Amino acid sequence: MSTSFSTGTGSTQGAASAGGSRGTPTSMSVRMAAISAVTNWRPISPPLNFHETPAHELFGSNVFGSAAMKSRLPKPVYKSVMKTIETGAKLDSSIADMVASAMKDWAIEKGATHYAHVFYPLTGLTAEKHDSFLSPDGDGGAIAEFSGKQLIQGEPDGSSFPTGGIRATFEARGYTIWDVTSPAYILENPNGTTLCIPTAFVSWTGEALDKKTPVLRSMQALNKQAQRILKLFGHADEAFVASTAGPEQEYFLVDRHFYFARPDLFTCGRTLFGAKPPKGQEFEDHYFGAIPERVLAFMLEVERELCKLGIPVKTRHNEVAPGQYEIAPVFESANLATDHQQLAMITLKRVAEKYGMACLTHEKPFAGVNGSGKHVNWSLGSKSQGNLLDPGDTPHTNAQFLVFCAAVIRAVYKFQGLLRAVVATAGNDHRLGANEAPPAIISIFLGDQLADIFQQIKVGGANSSLSKGMMTVGVDVLPPLPKDAGDRNRTSPFAFTGNRFEFRAVGSNQSIAGPLVAMNTIICESLDFCANQLEKATAGKPESLHASVQKLLTEIINECEPIIFNGDGYSVAWHKEAAARGLLNLKSTTDALPQLAAPEVNALFTKYDVLSTRELQSRLDIYLEQYCKTVRVEGLQTMEMAKTLIFPAAIRYQNELAATCVNLKLVGYEFDTDTLDKMVELVKNLQDAISVLDKTLTHHDADGLEAEARHYCEDVVPAMAEVRKHADELEGMVADDIWPLPTYQEMLFIK
Ligand code: ADP
Ligand code: MG
Repeated sequence: MSTSFSTGTGSTQGAASAGGSRGTPTSMSVRMAAISAVTNWRPISPPLNFHETPAHELFGSNVFGSAAMKSRLPKPVYKSVMKTIETGAKLDSSIADMVASAMKDWAIEKGATHYAHVFYPLTGLTAEKHDSFLSPDGDGGAIAEFSGKQLIQGEPDGSSFPTGGIRATFEARGYTIWDVTSPAYILENPNGTTLCIPTAFVSWTGEALDKKTPVLRSMQALNKQAQRILKLFGHADEAFVASTAGPEQEYFLVDRHFYFARPDLFTCGRTLFGAKPPKGQEFEDHYFGAIPERVLAFMLEVERELCKLGIPVKTRHNEVAPGQYEIAPVFESANLATDHQQLAMITLKRVAEKYGMACLTHEKPFAGVNGSGKHVNWSLGSKSQGNLLDPGDTPHTNAQFLVFCAAVIRAVYKFQGLLRAVVATAGNDHRLGANEAPPAIISIFLGDQLADIFQQIKVGGANSSLSKGMMTVGVDVLPPLPKDAGDRNRTSPFAFTGNRFEFRAVGSNQSIAGPLVAMNTIICESLDFCANQLEKATAGKPESLHASVQKLLTEIINECEPIIFNGDGYSVAWHKEAAARGLLNLKSTTDALPQLAAPEVNALFTKYDVLSTRELQSRLDIYLEQYCKTVRVEGLQTMEMAKTLIFPAAIRYQNELAATCVNLKLVGYEFDTDTLDKMVELVKNLQDAISVLDKTLTHHDADGLEAEARHYCEDVVPAMAEVRKHADELEGMVADDIWPLPTYQEMLFIK
C-alpha cells in the first residue's frame, strides 16, 4: 500500500486527511490519524541507485569549481580567478564576461534554464532571485545570454529584508555582488536545474545588509594581522591566512504526520506544550545507537546531495536525545563553510520531506530532553604554514603556536560579552545554561597539556609539555593507543580540542556567520596587539624574539587567566566562582544582545573595517526585533492552542466525569469526586493563565526595542510557561482518546 504524503499543506487537518485517505473513519482525531499513518509508513520513491554512481564520482559534480574552470577558461583567466580565491588578491573584473560565458555553457549542459544570485540577509536564512538565461532574439525565438555584468551584479528589490534602519523602505535599492571565493553550483529539481551564484548583499550606500559581507571583511582583516606575526617568526611568503570552520549540525527528525498535527511545531519549530514522557533520554540509549533504517536512508540521500554540491560531509551519528542526530563536514575556509552550512540546512529539510519526516533545527524542539547546538570548530591557517593552532608534540617549544593560542585566550577574555551576544537568540535561550549545553558564562577550556604550559609561563617560563603517553586497556589482543594530551570537556563553551577551538554555545538554527565574524575579528585584534608588542620589543633584532615572546605570553596569561576554566561548567560552584572572577553571566538574549553596542565592540569592528557603527547598530536592532517577533508568535500560538485544542479537550473530559457523577447518583451509588475536582481546578488554572498571557501580549507601553524585548523576556515567556504547566498537567489527566496533540512519547519514539 502506498502512503500519501500530501500533507504538506501547513494545515492541522493534514494528518487527518492522510489517515482518511486510507479509509480510516473520519471521526478519528488528527492525532490518532497521525499515529496510524506513521505506523503504516512506506518509502515514496525507489531507493537510490548507489551501485551505478558511487559517491566519489558525484563529489563536486554540480560545482563550477577549480576543475571545471580549469577545463573551460583560457589559462590567464583561470589563473587570475584562482589568484583571487587563493590569495585574497583584488578581483580583476575585466575577466567577468569570459567567466560568465563559461559558467553559462556549463550550467546549460547541466540542464539549467535560470541563474540565481544567492544571498544571506540578516534573517539568517538564504535568499535567492532567479532569472532566466533566455532573452527574445527579435525574430520570435530566444537566445541564452549571461553577461559578466549579470554575473557580477544583481539588483533584487531589497525593501522587505531587514535593514535595521540602514535605509527606509522606499529606498529599496540593494545589490548582490558575485563572491568569487564561493563557487557557483547547480541546484537540482525534478523539473529542471538552476545555476546558483553566491553573492554579498549591500545597500545603495555600500553598507552590508547581509551575513556574508562581514565574514569576508573579517577574514581579510584577520589575514593582515596574522601575516605580521608570521613575518616575525620568519615566514614572509604571505600565503593567505584564512580562518577555517567546521560546524557540527545537530537536528531532530519527527514524522511529518506528527509535525502537521502540531501547530506549534510547524509555526514555531518547537513544541509549546507536551508533558514529559515516562521514558525520555534517561537511559541515554539513543546516543551513538544504531541508526534507524528510515533515518539512515534519509542521511544517505542528504549526503549524496551534499556531495554533488562539493560539501565534504564526514560524520553522522545519533545524538543524545531520542530522535536527535548530527551531521558534520570536514572543515573549510570560513566563508565557504558558512555558505555550505546554509545549504546543508536547506538540504536536510528538503530531503526529510521525501522520507515523510520533518527536520527540526530549532535549539529546543522538546522540553526535558537535550536541545540542539551547532559546535563551530575554528582555527586559522595558510597553504604554506598549515594549521596555526597545531601545537605539535612539544608545544612549550612552539613559540609561534603559543602566540596564536595566547591571542585567542586574550580575545575571548576581552570580548566575552560579544561572544555571548552572537549566540543570543530566542531559541538558544532554552539551551544555554540549562545544564545540557554550555552555561551562559563564556570561559575557555585548554585541556591539561596547555593549561600546564600556560601555568609554567605564568611563573617564569615553560620548560616541558605533559607527554601524550600511551593508553593500555589490559587486554593483550587490543593494541595500545597514543593518548590525547588532554581529555575533553563538554561543559565548556569554548574549548581547545587538540588543534582548534570549538565554540560550543552556537545554536543549531543559527547561521554560523555571526559567530565567525566575531571570532575572526576579536582574534585579529589580539594578533594586532601581539604584533605591536613584539615588533616594538624586537625592534628589528630577531635574536630578542624569544625573550619578547616569553614576556608577552606572561603578560597575557596574568591578565586573562580568569577566562580559563577546566572544571565542570554546569556546576553551581562555577557560577559562584565565575562571578568572583568578574566574568559576565548574561542569562538571556535581552541581557546579551546589548553587548553589541558596547563601546569596545564598536571600536573593534570599526577599527578593522568589519562593520561600521551604523551597520553594527542595525544588527542590534534587527536581532532585538527578531527576538520580540519570535516570542510574540510563540505567545500567540500558545494562546490559540490552549484555547482551541487543549481547553476543549479538557472540558469534554470534565463533562464526561460530571455526567458519570450524575449517573452514579441517579442509580444511588456512593462515589467520590476527586478526579472531577482536580479537573475543575486545572481547567480553572488554565483559563487564568491564558488570560494573564493574553494581557502580556496586548500590553503596549514599551519604550524602544530593548524595553520591548525585556517585556517579552520577563513577562511573556513566563506567562507562556504558566499556561504550559497547567496544560501539561491536563495531558496527564484527560482521557487519552480525547487528547488532541501527538505526545512526546509518540513524536520521539514512533519511527
Ligand atoms: P567532535 O564531535 O569529536 O568534536 P566531529 O568530528 O564531529 O568532532 O567534528 C569536528 C569538526 O572540527 C569537523 O568538522 C572537523 O573538520 C573540524 N576541524 C578539524 N580541524 C579543524 C581546523 N583546523 N579548523 C576548523 N575546523 C576543524
Ligand atoms: Mg564536537
